[in-house]
Amino acid sequence: MKNLMFNEFAFSKEMQKAINDLGYEEATPIQSQAIPVFLEGKDIIGQAQTGTGKTAAFGIPILELINSADKTIQCIILCPTRELAIQVSEEMCKLAKYKKDIAIIPIYGGQSIDRQLKGLKKGVQVIIGTPGRVLDHLDRKTIKPGGVKIVVLDEADEMLDMGFRDDIELILKNTPKERQTVLFSATMHKNIVDLAKRYQRNPVNIKVVHEVLTVPNTEQIYFEVREREKLESLSRIIDLYNLKLSLIFCNTKRGVDELVDHLQARGYSAEGLHGDMQQNSRERVTDKFRKGKIDMLVATDVAARGLDIENIEAVFNYDMPQNEDYYVHRIGRTGRMGKTGKAFTFATSNEIFKLRIFQKYIKTKIKLQQLPSYGDVEEMKENQFLDEIKEVIKKGELKKYTHLVEKLLNEDYTSLEIAAALVKMSLPEPVKESLKESFKDSGREKFKDSRRDDFRKGKRDRNGKSNAGSTKEARLFLNVGKKDKVHPGDILGALAGESGLPGNLIGDIDMYDSYSFVNVPENYVDKIIDSVSGCNIKGKKVHIEEATGK
Ligand code: ADP
Ligand code: MG
Repeated sequence: MKNLMFNEFAFSKEMQKAINDLGYEEATPIQSQAIPVFLEGKDIIGQAQTGTGKTAAFGIPILELINSADKTIQCIILCPTRELAIQVSEEMCKLAKYKKDIAIIPIYGGQSIDRQLKGLKKGVQVIIGTPGRVLDHLDRKTIKPGGVKIVVLDEADEMLDMGFRDDIELILKNTPKERQTVLFSATMHKNIVDLAKRYQRNPVNIKVVHEVLTVPNTEQIYFEVREREKLESLSRIIDLYNLKLSLIFCNTKRGVDELVDHLQARGYSAEGLHGDMQQNSRERVTDKFRKGKIDMLVATDVAARGLDIENIEAVFNYDMPQNEDYYVHRIGRTGRMGKTGKAFTFATSNEIFKLRIFQKYIKTKIKLQQLPSYGDVEEMKENQFLDEIKEVIKKGELKKYTHLVEKLLNEDYTSLEIAAALVKMSLPEPVKESLKESFKDSGREKFKDSRRDDFRKGKRDRNGKSNAGSTKEARLFLNVGKKDKVHPGDILGALAGESGLPGNLIGDIDMYDSYSFVNVPENYVDKIIDSVSGCNIKGKKVHIEEATGK
């Protein structure tokens, strides 16, 4: 079926205008198929992968079907997490930009109930929330479901996986039987089909999974690695391609925490996202990633599910995805909406067979590549640098500068010396370091260790800027420790995140059962204490002060 252009639909003027403002021209496959059926009032089971525009697929028809004169709740949209509820709410508000009489609010745990109630009293027609919180409001009778005409279950499989089944059923039972029930899910396992059977009437099945499966703009590559080589491999690939926003998938929460610790220790700006984290820190992390304040987001499938983040350059399957659905989901996060992206998969020798299954499913080749060696990474950086110089020479307009060089030449320096000094001054630090090492004993592998040691001593930051000779260190006491399931990475993350202090300036972190000590530059002490006091680390309120005595 051909996709429809948005001007081919008979939408209201207000809707056409809002869609125009968003810049959407062509409807995605799920939108082309679901919107007309939705507008007819039919129940729908829709299956489409993340990033295919499901929000507008239900958002547009909902807004067209709402009776704006009627101020009762007419539609409930259930989402698995608070982030997704907010995301859906934001997109729907954009779509409702010119429908001034329609009010939409997100309802979720963690926000003050009072504020939500105030919102509800004004007469809201569309609510978007997590099942738990919506049910809570139904119990308190602050949401009256009598006027509900439409219920949408967004990411239904995810909600079931998260144990919301009973809540969802209770909500459905509380709403009028004649309602229209629409269910979207990335996968169609038996429990989804069961739910549909019990709560939908003659649903129309819409499945577009296979049509968008090929993710044409994503280059798919795999590396054969041993488990213990993964970290090193990841670092090299990131350095080689100079990747900015990367999303890295691990299969477990522990895996996420550990990898984040390692990456931070190597000087990368990485943070983790998984289900054990408090809602507000999850939100803080995704927001930072979205804004490019951190380069790498390490996540579990569940935590990253449905999050809509643009411009992800690369997705890493640090751990092999459990099945082809997961694979497609993960790599679908890059190369979105016309942009190109890269998907890298690490496969241990006994996992290679899985790649064959994925390839068959997606009908695209996943190419084997050799891991870049240290030499490759450094050589590439050197070449990049030399290319930049050539580029500058080619552009010309150097008169002003040749004049300066002449001054030095007149003082009896040779042009080779002058050029070499300038190269030394402007070469990226890691390249400089490696040149130093290779000059000393021509051993590239040395570089790895020197780099780490230097880093531990806090000599350089991620961009290689030298900060040797910095000020004295002070020792801070924190009332969180191992018993609170806090890792050094959490402390590093909180201190760096809250105070803006570059992570590499944070010195040794000594962790004990119920408290920890951290070394930081003396001149940052006040700033850190001010910004970190009272924050939460792993759910515990932090008390921080300068350590006294020894
Ligand atoms: P899903 O819920 O399927 O994961 P989203 O609804 O979050 O996908 O949409 C993914 C991204 O695509 C969003 O940034 C959205 O604004 C954008 N988008 C949706 N529909 C279109 C369209 N028809 N044309 C261009 N961009 C679109
Ligand atoms: Mg979605």
